[in-house]
Amino acid sequence: MAKPASDRPLRPATLLVRGGLMRSNQDETSEALYLTSGFVYDSAKQAEQTFTGEVEHWQYSRFGNPTIAMLEQRLAALEGAEACRVTATGMAAVSAAMLAHLKAGDRVVASRALFGSCHWIVSTLLPRYGIQTEFVDGADLAQWRTAFKRPCQLVLLETPSNPMLEMVDLRAVSDMAHEAGAIVVVDNVFATPLLQRPLKFGADVVVYSLTKHFDGQGRVLGGAVLGSKKWIEEVLQPFTRNTGPAISAFNAWTILKGMETLHLRVPAMCRSAAAIAQMLEERAEVSRVCYPFLASHPQYDLAKQQMAAGGTLVTFDIEGGKEAAFRFLDALRVIDISNNLGDAKSLITHPATTTHSKVAPEERARLGITEGSVRLSVGLEDVADLIEDISTALDAAGGHAAPRPKSVAKMVVEQASAPPSQPEPAGETKPRPKRKAGAAVPEPVARAAKPEEPDLFAKAVEGLFREPQAAEPAAEAAPAGKRRRKG
Ligand SMILES: *Cc1c(COP(=O)(O)O)cnc(C)c1O
Repeated sequence: MAKPASDRPLRPATLLVRGGLMRSNQDETSEALYLTSGFVYDSAKQAEQTFTGEVEHWQYSRFGNPTIAMLEQRLAALEGAEACRVTATGMAAVSAAMLAHLKAGDRVVASRALFGSCHWIVSTLLPRYGIQTEFVDGADLAQWRTAFKRPCQLVLLETPSNPMLEMVDLRAVSDMAHEAGAIVVVDNVFATPLLQRPLKFGADVVVYSLTKHFDGQGRVLGGAVLGSKKWIEEVLQPFTRNTGPAISAFNAWTILKGMETLHLRVPAMCRSAAAIAQMLEERAEVSRVCYPFLASHPQYDLAKQQMAAGGTLVTFDIEGGKEAAFRFLDALRVIDISNNLGDAKSLITHPATTTHSKVAPEERARLGITEGSVRLSVGLEDVADLIEDISTALDAAGGHAAPRPKSVAKMVVEQASAPPSQPEPAGETKPRPKRKAGAAVPEPVARAAKPEEPDLFAKAVEGLFREPQAAEPAAEAAPAGKRRRKG
């Protein structure tokens, strides 16, 4: 018999480690991986009753699976949402949330600064199905107000946005959208629930790419949609069960285990990102630094209101356009060139030629993306190594090329090509206690969400982002800026 669950509300770190845990009667410590497509019934009658809904029993992994359900409940608990459904990718989550809610004749308003594929769904896919769409500048409340003069069924926005880290006022836009009859869907990938919980500001649905910070170690793809129980069960679920964007139980399990360290990884990445943003502001080779918690960010006050920290991404412009930006990227020796983000490894990309290469140049300019813009996803390496790597590469970008050391990645490959060690002898395995197969399945019933004490989550998050007392201040690790930024 499992011990009863805590009836006190739990803080985010605890939810990330224990939320949604359903132990089978094998008493495993770690969440079990149910790598199975289907499930069996004790009798024809039980199968019949499962399909009529009289009996709760797992049916088929396109509909649900115990490992996937654990991930859904962990995510819902963290977000403070009533319900969650997990999908194979972040884009499956965004497209399911929109297509499940919309029909021909409806109208969508979206912020212009969206992830590339989200932009394609709004600009290209939805109009094919007779849905009207309109983009606004997310930061401009007057544009939202004008757009809401006509009826609207759904709003899609991203804050902070990719790649320029522009903010949208969640409270103001949600209030206006509701008056126009729309639900508000927020792509919260860049913030994570630790930095920002959009439902608290009035949003209705939150979508994630779990590929990013949740897995956080570059292994698997995943997505999530969170909202009210009623909307998830009545609107989203019929769509996902029948169209099939289901995640693999293996990928769900990988993400579930990744989440156990989210509250350690994200604050550490945010601290390094803030130190790097400050250091970049000192450099003459950098003409602009975008980071929500820099006082120079045009929406600094809004960022401070909506977010617990500035995030793990820093976008900046290298003086000298594409050529200088490419020189900078190619001179990096620790940070990898990659279009992914939220990873333990620091990754950098040149949006104009990669993630946003299919966006028309005028539209790119409107989004603030220049030929010199680079987007850095700050990882978990020592911030002093990251700052040294960036400083040396900026010297190279500015034309003061430093001697090029051998790349870290290359050194690792050379070491790895040494002869492999002998395989370990297989350990003896204890015979497993025999139990009735059906009895091992944990209760599929979700534990009811506990009512949350006001501010417990916020207070605990504040603690996570507080500078650790014993740690070396980041400023000491940073070499002093060579030159003051001009102007
Ligand atoms: C990565 C990403 C997505 C898409 O997620 P996938 O898991 O790659 O499908 C959507 N929105 C944002 C902001 C993203 O960064």
